[in-house]
Order: sequence, then structure tokens, then C-alpha cells
Amino acid sequence: MLVNYLRCINYEPVPEITILYFDPDECKAELLDSLIVPGKYDPKKRIVYICEPLVEDVVSELKDKFSKSYSELYFTYREIVRLHEHIHACIHQMLGACWEYEPYVDEPVTEFLCYCVIKHVAECEENLPNLFLEVFEKIDRIRPYDMWKDVLDIKVNGVRTEEICERTNWDLKLIFRVFIDALSAHPKNFNDLRCILEKYDRWYALCPMEII
Ligand SMILES: [Zn+2]
Repeated sequence: MLVNYLRCINYEPVPEITILYFDPDECKAELLDSLIVPGKYDPKKRIVYICEPLVEDVVSELKDKFSKSYSELYFTYREIVRLHEHIHACIHQMLGACWEYEPYVDEPVTEFLCYCVIKHVAECEENLPNLFLEVFEKIDRIRPYDMWKDVLDIKVNGVRTEEICERTNWDLKLIFRVFIDALSAHPKNFNDLRCILEKYDRWYALCPMEII
């Protein structure tokens, strides 16, 4: 369901495969290969994989942090994993042949964009439970996945990213365009990304006047 919101930025969802039994080849991130993660996007096959046993492991850990049922947490967390992997696929689709994966750029940006989608959904859908946001904010992360908060602090032409997002009501079209633009300049690390965004002045042109 969160993935459906990516359609408003013209994402054509790629196929998704659920792995029901732990498979060390399918249940690990290809380019951060010491890391076991619950989801994976395979850019060669253009397929998203969700590794169910690992989703269940994380949910068992989350159980102590929330007074929610296992199934509520399970469906919430699984949806966040799906969103993350489909955002990788979405970035790949938008950049096409320009796509290059740099974990210390792509993972923080992907997590940051996940956060933007969840905030956007929370703004648009008043009745939607805010468990997505709560779970997203409380998931334990290691580098580079925990760097999404650093993206909120980057100053895009003098204005904090988070402030731009708030001012534009978490407008996904605008946010994705700015970040896809920045990624198309092939930042080699997080500092490169920061430099590209600090000089980025086109977001003003993308906004309606009353927001600026
Ligand atoms: Zn990822």
C-alpha cells in the first residue's frame, strides 16, 4: 500500500518475489555483502525480493518496543521493507542508464525518501494509523542506513532539507525530482551528495510561488 504512493511520481512497480524460507543468496544485500537484510532489489533482474523469515526476526525484536499486536507490527514493518526496496527500483527507473549504486549515498537517500513517503501519507490520509511513522523512526539501523537523518539536516541552497519538505507539504514529486537530480550527478560519497545539494538552486523553480 505505501508502495502505491510511488505511482504518483510515475513509478511502474517492478515484480516482487517473497522468499518464504531463508536463503543466504537471496536474503542478503548484493553490494553490502556482509549484511543480511530483509529485502533486496536486484538491478539486473529488476525484481524486488522480500525475505519473510528475516522480516519475522525483526518484528520479534520490535515487539518489545511497541504495545501492538504481532500482526500489526508485522504488516507495518513488512510494508516499510517493501517501500525501501521499491524506492531503489524507482530511482533505477528514473535514472535509467545513469544509475550507479553507492551504498553510502543510495541507502541514506532511500531511507530518507521512505520517510518522505510515510510523512506524505500521514499528511494526506488522516485516518491512516501513524504506526508506519513510529515503526520507521524506531527501527535499529547500522551505517549507512542510519544516515537518513543526516539528509534532513543538509542545507539545500541554505534551507534545511527538512524545512523544504515541510514547506512543500512533503510533496513527493518535488522531493524525488531534487534527489534524482542530485543522484544523476553521481555523488561518490555522502559528502559529495551534500556538496551537490548545497549548490542546488532548482527546487525554487519547482515550487509554487506561495510556498517560497
Ligand atoms: Zn537498500
